[in-house]
Amino acid sequence: MTQRKGYTTASIHTKLPKNDAYNALHMPVYDGVAYEFESSQDIEDAFMGKKMAHAYSRTSNPTVEYFEKKLQSVSGAQGVVALSSGMAAISNALMALVESGANIVSSNHLFGHSYALLKTTLDHWGIEVRFVDMGNVDEVKAAIDDKTRVLFFETITNPQLELVDIKKLADIAHQKQIAVVVDSTLTPPYVFNSVEFGVDVEVMSTTKFISGGAAAVGGAIVDNGTFDWSKVPALSNWTEKFKENAFTARVRKEIFRHLGACMTAHTAHFLNLGLDILALRVDRCVENCVALGEYFVAHENITSVSYPGLKSDPGYALSVKQFSGKPGGVMTIDLASKESCYKFMDALNIVRRATNLNDNKTLIIHPWSTIYSEFCDEEKIEMGIRDTMLRVSVGIEEVADLIADFESALAGI
Ligand SMILES: *Cc1c(COP(=O)(O)O)cnc(C)c1O
Repeated sequence: MTQRKGYTTASIHTKLPKNDAYNALHMPVYDGVAYEFESSQDIEDAFMGKKMAHAYSRTSNPTVEYFEKKLQSVSGAQGVVALSSGMAAISNALMALVESGANIVSSNHLFGHSYALLKTTLDHWGIEVRFVDMGNVDEVKAAIDDKTRVLFFETITNPQLELVDIKKLADIAHQKQIAVVVDSTLTPPYVFNSVEFGVDVEVMSTTKFISGGAAAVGGAIVDNGTFDWSKVPALSNWTEKFKENAFTARVRKEIFRHLGACMTAHTAHFLNLGLDILALRVDRCVENCVALGEYFVAHENITSVSYPGLKSDPGYALSVKQFSGKPGGVMTIDLASKESCYKFMDALNIVRRATNLNDNKTLIIHPWSTIYSEFCDEEKIEMGIRDTMLRVSVGIEEVADLIADFESALAGI
């Protein structure tokens, strides 16, 4: 048996799907729309799916295909589809698995737009979503019935930073023959081997850690090849022809193609570079988070700190078990009041006031007044958002500079 390569080796040395005409060592950006064929038979074969060939860049593109191959080689997955954003990945994946009249079991501790997609948009299409506490196994079990098609949750919730026992939840879902779909945006493949914990499909925003420096918006759907898709009514027409690839086939040939949320070649180019240096950036970011976390915990003006990489955090044991002790680069802190949060944010110089996560720059935001502003106060509280909470997305700057910036801003509140 050949030993599976390390993350970075696998990423950097993913073979180009075809030899480049100029022997380019780096995958070029194929920016065009259409691809020419030698003969009418060739174009027929391509359209009939008898021969793999690119025909039109909304349905497939060489630079995007290479990104998919890279993500496949670092994750060991069976199938990968790249899309225009994380939200496109989530919506396309769920739409491929659920039919009208069926339901999804999920949590209300989700990224705001994911929550709104489930709560509002899918509801209009006759898909019920049952929101439960993923930490409560009995609640999860009770919500599942014979119309449940998917158990959907985040590996680490954003911004509550809660961890769940993924394997335990996957076992419950699999006992009832339900697919496990997780949003693994906060825990990219370098730290999370999803197949080991029973995840069938990963959806992720590649905008965050993978893009490397917030250069491009993108998303991906990753099929681990673990679920028997013949159990899913929405895939019944697909399993006959595509067998274990039924899910990826339906996404690619129907949902993704018809909704048109394709990734551009330029985005794929940034992601190809970002994937190669992901491990270096994640390691630096986690080191910074731990150092900052310890600094915040000791500071008298900070009332609470949440980062599952800290030994004092309730998520620490699960973060070691599931994410090699590298639970991403997002942390939250609480100050005494909303006013002190604003005063503190406004006094920062190196840390930037912006949404987004896992930029190389450290970013700070007050979720209550921004990302969650469309929800009423009761809903926000139910979703674990407080008006005293700040979300810090830690970058890769030298940590002493970050601490100095936080120190002077905290002195002024
Ligand atoms: C950002 C984010 C998304 C959405 O991704 P986009 O690329 O912005 O569409 C989904 N889930 C989580 C956890 C995120 O942080």
